[in-house]
Amino acid sequence: MNNLFEDRLSRIRERMAKACERAGRNPAMVNLLPVSKTHGPELVCEAAACGLTVFGENKVQEAKQKIPLCPSHLIWHLVGHLQTNKVKDAVRLFAVIHSVDSLKLLTAIDAAGELTGRVMPVFLEVNVAGESSKFGLAPADGPSVLNAANALKRVDVAGLMTIPPIAEEPEHARPFFKQLRELRDQWRQETGFALNELSMGMSHDFEVAIEEGATWIRLGTVLFGSREV
Ligand SMILES: *Cc1c(COP(=O)(O)O)cnc(C)c1O
Repeated sequence: MNNLFEDRLSRIRERMAKACERAGRNPAMVNLLPVSKTHGPELVCEAAACGLTVFGENKVQEAKQKIPLCPSHLIWHLVGHLQTNKVKDAVRLFAVIHSVDSLKLLTAIDAAGELTGRVMPVFLEVNVAGESSKFGLAPADGPSVLNAANALKRVDVAGLMTIPPIAEEPEHARPFFKQLRELRDQWRQETGFALNELSMGMSHDFEVAIEEGATWIRLGTVLFGSREV
């Protein structure tokens, strides 16, 4: 098989490997999360045929339509903002939630987990740049949310996620990725949470994110092409 998707994937894997090499990191520690939002099940099937098994979506409603039409062995991560009224669906559809941005949401996910009997791995989304247009916890609120999470039995706060400000130059994202890693190190000390996962880096800046310690890079456009909507 030799197609456009497979070519894109192998080029991305090469770029990931080079970034790991530059940073002296083990490539096995960096996970590619293909973000299939706006694209149909056909393209997901094509990606699955290349061996990809974990996919990201940013909207519960879209995922609810799409997931039943995709191969059943696939695993789905939610990367977009989650409203509390969609938590029950999210807990049913997704294996990991990257975008927990409040204690209220974390508590709602915990409560939904009580019903399903599952523990949901989640990442806290941090608004490192303090942009008013973005979701995410203020860095100052991280430790208190983590301390409160100690009491929740159905969520496992496994890491942090961020979306840096839009910039022309991938290098401009570096300080924000670095800041997320440093917050992680600090909160690890302060709270005892290991926070091993760092979900950071998208099509435009994933190599910089890998150099700064990303364990999940979330790739849409560079893998699936541009989005119509
Ligand atoms: C769409 C999206 C991505 C992927 O974006 P690209 O720039 O197309 O790679 C990553 N993370 C989140 C939260 C998204 O919504």
